[in-house]
Amino acid sequence: MEYKKLAGGGIGRRVTIFFMSKTKRLVIANWKMNPQTPDEAKAILAGTRKATESLKYTEVIVCPSFLYFPAAVKSITSKVRAKMRVGVQDIFWEDRGSFTGEVSAAMVKAGGGTHVIVGHSERRALGETDEMVGKKVAAVVREDLTAILCIGEGERDVNGNYLSFLKQQLSAGLSGVQKRHVGQIVVAYEPVWAIGKSEREALTGSGMHEMTIFIRKLLSDIYGRDIAVQVPILYGGSVTPANAGDIVSEGHTDGLLVGRQSLDPAQFVEILKIVDSIS
Ligand code: PGA
Repeated sequence: MEYKKLAGGGIGRRVTIFFMSKTKRLVIANWKMNPQTPDEAKAILAGTRKATESLKYTEVIVCPSFLYFPAAVKSITSKVRAKMRVGVQDIFWEDRGSFTGEVSAAMVKAGGGTHVIVGHSERRALGETDEMVGKKVAAVVREDLTAILCIGEGERDVNGNYLSFLKQQLSAGLSGVQKRHVGQIVVAYEPVWAIGKSEREALTGSGMHEMTIFIRKLLSDIYGRDIAVQVPILYGGSVTPANAGDIVSEGHTDGLLVGRQSLDPAQFVEILKIVDSIS
């Protein structure tokens, strides 16, 4: 992120320009099918907004259930508008029509959403295929929204087959995304074995560094290096205040996707502060 400060001074029109660069980071709050009541949702939103107010370099994307989505959009005040946004956890690939129970990217956009999580492992476990994920990602970018494409292996093997698995998930997910839309893609690496566990079972920062390099290389192979370096790569899976700093700094990631701890404002505030303090 580039901060530009213009300061006039002295006689005439002498203008001093300072440039200060610091990486902009993203933290996605994936609420999943929580909480149970609108009042609880409002309390979490209020806590998240309060924490976001003091962030300088971090953008927070809150992804509640569709039921709480309008309340989340409404909760964004002018103080946090530039750094807090609202997304959803899934969409359907068609724009409109007879698809009972589905919600389109166009509806999310019209409702004030900017991001869509696509291909989360919990959706894949319910039957979502690579092909469906590819169609959903394409539908998201078609609407000028940002897709948070989740990839992650179920388990690791010594032969490294999981790397080919990840390659397949990534290339299928991006199959409908042309170069000019790559700015609307965020990749979230979420090893399934690390989701919903304790922080001790999460990937370490150095483990994530290898994955960041690997995913960046895959992106370069598809789109070329110049474009690949622009794609934010996040980590998700049992992030807590205890491991957030290591994963972001040692992992050389652009941010985090946080599940459970995003529902607990006290913990989430800590995670945000830690991420925001890393240069
Ligand atoms: P967790 O969830 O932080 O609760 O492990 C992460 C995710 O599944 O997105």
